[in-house]
Amino acid sequence: MTQAVAERERRAGVGDVLLDVRDLHTYFHVMDGTVKAVDGVSFSLRKGGRLALVGESGCGKSVTALSIMRLIDTPPGEFAGGEIIFDGRDLLKLKDDEIRKVRGGDIAMVFQEPMTSLNPVMTVGDQIIEAVLLHQGVNQKGAEAIAVQALVDVGVADAKRRLKQYPFELSGGMRQRIMIAMALSCNPKLIIADEPTTALDVTIQRQILELIKTIQERTGTALLLITHDLGVVAETVDDVAVMYAGRVVETGTVDEVLLSPRHPYTRGLLESIPSQGKKGQRLSAIRGVVPNPFRMPQGCKFEPRCPYAWQTCADEEPPLIELGSDRTARCWLHDRRFADRLADYEASLAKLMEQVAS
Ligand code: SF4
Repeated sequence: MTQAVAERERRAGVGDVLLDVRDLHTYFHVMDGTVKAVDGVSFSLRKGGRLALVGESGCGKSVTALSIMRLIDTPPGEFAGGEIIFDGRDLLKLKDDEIRKVRGGDIAMVFQEPMTSLNPVMTVGDQIIEAVLLHQGVNQKGAEAIAVQALVDVGVADAKRRLKQYPFELSGGMRQRIMIAMALSCNPKLIIADEPTTALDVTIQRQILELIKTIQERTGTALLLITHDLGVVAETVDDVAVMYAGRVVETGTVDEVLLSPRHPYTRGLLESIPSQGKKGQRLSAIRGVVPNPFRMPQGCKFEPRCPYAWQTCADEEPPLIELGSDRTARCWLHDRRFADRLADYEASLAKLMEQVAS
């Protein structure tokens, strides 16, 4: 165990940590070379806690989630290093039959587009009942009762009739409720929700987020939310880990990260959100694109897009710098040698936050 890991556990309270991802490396070996989709990611989640992994497409957040579920095809994928400690066991060391019991049992996943994860030729009832029979050790009648209750719990009216329907007969919002019901039916300790509202319209999005939050609070299930949307983050979780180019670049509570971003990438994400204070102004966007995975910059991976970069950033990759309890940023601005640069950053940040707040 590294010193940093020990310190993290001490702060969280050892018995409280449900999921501890330690220096995870998930690579894909393809024709053109090796894509280091997840390259040294560490974070932890307490029992009953709510954490969001945030970043643009291709930052590694979904691959991190799929790695936790061991849903990466190997080959071409490879778990090239690290540990995923869940409830005291390293998921990367479990045999196939053991991880199958964890998947859908202790850990459930809700995907972005339920149509791709629900079986189109089975009724939703049969799909929930199948999962319950596999994980709960009850008979058919008991499984049916659990399935009905699961639909009632997610606010589905006329649950018995709904169980007899096929996915194509349901709306997008209803299908997502069914996915959440299926996830909950086995009393998981952790729900991983990967962009659960991206495919839904705005009003249904809000209902589904409220539902996830209400159920999570009622059952004490921990939530790992994967999203690119900082608005969703603000409404749903307590803690945030921002990812960029396969790395965690900033961590903190929601308030810390959204009100005082310590990494220029997080700041760029915030600057691109519309607000009343920016009315009439052109919305800003982070310049450039995410780096080509085969030609990663040598130093800071955000350097080609960063408005605050200087030579040190291009030459050397910054470490994840501790800024306080569970507060970190992977940026040279927080190295004491560059305090004058940090002062400039802080001054311009104060102006931005005034605009965001108005
Ligand atoms: Fe920008 Fe340099 Fe910080 Fe990277 S290390 S985010 S390039 S200021």
